Amino acid sequence: MKDSLTTPRAALAGPQFLHTPGPTHVPDAVREAMGRQCMDLSDPRLADLIADCEAGLARLLGTRHADVLMYAANGHGAWEATIANLVAPGAQVLVAGSGHFAEAWAVHAEAMGATALRTPTRPGQALDPAAIEAALRADTAHRIAAVFAVHTDTASGVTSDIAAVRRAMDASGHPALLVADVIASLGATPFRMDDWGVNVAIGASQKALMGPPGLSFTAVDARAMQAAQANPTPRAYWDWAKRKSDLLYRKFCGTPPQSLLAGMRAALDLIAAEGEEAVFARHRRVANAVHAAVNAWSQGGALKLFVEDPAARAVSVTTISVADGVDVEAMRTVARERFHVAVAGGLGPLAGRMFRIGHLGDVHPAMILGALGGVDAALRACGIPVGDGALQGAVKALHE
Ligand SMILES: *Cc1c(COP(=O)(O)O)cnc(C)c1O
Repeated sequence: MKDSLTTPRAALAGPQFLHTPGPTHVPDAVREAMGRQCMDLSDPRLADLIADCEAGLARLLGTRHADVLMYAANGHGAWEATIANLVAPGAQVLVAGSGHFAEAWAVHAEAMGATALRTPTRPGQALDPAAIEAALRADTAHRIAAVFAVHTDTASGVTSDIAAVRRAMDASGHPALLVADVIASLGATPFRMDDWGVNVAIGASQKALMGPPGLSFTAVDARAMQAAQANPTPRAYWDWAKRKSDLLYRKFCGTPPQSLLAGMRAALDLIAAEGEEAVFARHRRVANAVHAAVNAWSQGGALKLFVEDPAARAVSVTTISVADGVDVEAMRTVARERFHVAVAGGLGPLAGRMFRIGHLGDVHPAMILGALGGVDAALRACGIPVGDGALQGAVKALHE
């Protein structure tokens, strides 16, 4: 039978388990909120919906001062908005090496006319604040407009210390702005925009914020807003000054994406109801379970955790390197088609050399055990040598 998107495979055998680091499982409350009828643009409930999303995101971002501007776009759209507003053609940005998402962000800036400098990427390690400080000290002419840092690099599976980036920047005495990509971290691990001295934070709906893809946002502080105003780069759709408006039509440069906003509000309500601390603790527990499983699999000699330092490992995603000769793409296909668990592959230079298990957003212990069981079965079905006890290790990590 030909597969199609409208014919779920094995429709009677339960749901497909989605364990990529975005998109992630969308909870019922979010899906239901998104299924409601649209409102006319002057309905006060639409203004309330937008205000609730702005306030909920600001709370989660840890900011009381920044403007939250949302876009009907994926995360790359919010990257584009940030570069268009902050970086004049020919200006420099310093991108902190942390993995393929940082590199892709640098390439995106270059495509828009910026010169992207990079600190070295140390495979499996967090970004290096000392290298940022050195690069800023070397820039005595202050040509670097902004430092771009990815909080959780979903390609490498590392989470970096953003407060340490700010300390390094301050130590260098350089006036560059700090821009943090929190697309894969917000809602999974704490982020404190104001306390950590972040000038712009960039997020998106489809990772720990439990929505479908298509809604992204930037939180912009006063310094970044001023820098944008001084930047002559022509722009219209992304222009922050125009979007900073009380008119709903201006806020989105056109019709607000109501269904996505309704989903976002429902997700923010779920996080508030569970409690941020409880949400972060759940992510930590589930991540520990995955690490325990991978450590057991590693005993077979074919797999290992890409991020050796437990302190640098993300709670959102686990990256697993495979030995030469292991056909990891075939394993992913078996996991998806036979065991109904979707996991992600490697990106960029790591394509074909790793797989990634997403465990962010709407994930509870039984879901992750199901996913790990399916991956365990797929690894064995593909003849990949793995150690025993992965599930027992995961169970132990969950109840400890
Ligand atoms: C997913 C992701 C992006 C890109 O988001 P899209 O919605 O796919 O455009 C950017 N940065 C990080 C860290 C991500 O995880």
